[in-house]
Amino acid sequence: MNEPTLDLNTTKGLNQRSRTLKTQAIILRSFDDGEADRTVIILTPEVGKLKARVRGARKINSRLGGHTDLLNLTNLNVGLGNHLNVVTAADSLNSFVNLKSNLERLAIAIYLAELMNALIPEGVPHRSIFWLLLNALEELNKNKDPLIISRYLELKALEETGYKQELYRCVLCNTNIQPNQHSYVPSFGGVVCSECTVNPSELCTLSLNSLKVLRHFDRNRLSDALSIHLDNHIEYEIEKILEQSIIWILEKQSKARKFVTHLQNLRKNTAGLIS
Ligand SMILES: [Zn+2]
Repeated sequence: MNEPTLDLNTTKGLNQRSRTLKTQAIILRSFDDGEADRTVIILTPEVGKLKARVRGARKINSRLGGHTDLLNLTNLNVGLGNHLNVVTAADSLNSFVNLKSNLERLAIAIYLAELMNALIPEGVPHRSIFWLLLNALEELNKNKDPLIISRYLELKALEETGYKQELYRCVLCNTNIQPNQHSYVPSFGGVVCSECTVNPSELCTLSLNSLKVLRHFDRNRLSDALSIHLDNHIEYEIEKILEQSIIWILEKQSKARKFVTHLQNLRKNTAGLIS
């Protein structure tokens, strides 16, 4: 795997001589490896996404196993190698017990972790994505509205990974969008005015109220976004728009169709649990 890329402002946690990274991390993905090991994909503020082996994690008396469970926020020491990174110490800071005790919230948290895993490349610092996901896990853990958390995170994650959606001006003619004269084109990354011609198969319906919700998300923090209530119609519209936008971006990034389908299924499962 590639060495992590470090920018000069974020090397504080890295001991260059011993090549040990000391960092907070969210466990994005976890899978069994060999007889008793576990491989984790972690998200860190310093180096972004990183893959590491947790030796003996599945042994009953493992000191590391419980601290490196899926979705945990954990203090980690990671020995960085040319071919293999190894977790040498782990101390869980938050295992989000409340959200993990609820199937619906757990499914959403897993989907959001997988989405971040899909959108960001390995070894590139994404400090804002780390805090976005951590904030979402904390709000899910507090039983806050999972639909708003999901849609908010999707919109913000697109922005933070270079795919900010245009919500104010027509993506084709650049005029200000007038109320009730707009649609959405996921493959263009934003709203289009009613004067511009677009292949109908590319268009998604976008009501004025749904546009207002997206703009509210765009301008506010998650805690403020959670102050509103989404009715079914708005939820349906923005769910479709963001789903199509994410699929389009992942396919543009040449993500394997199988993986895109996997992510789509995770997302659909969360919708099924809520409805
Ligand atoms: Zn236009």
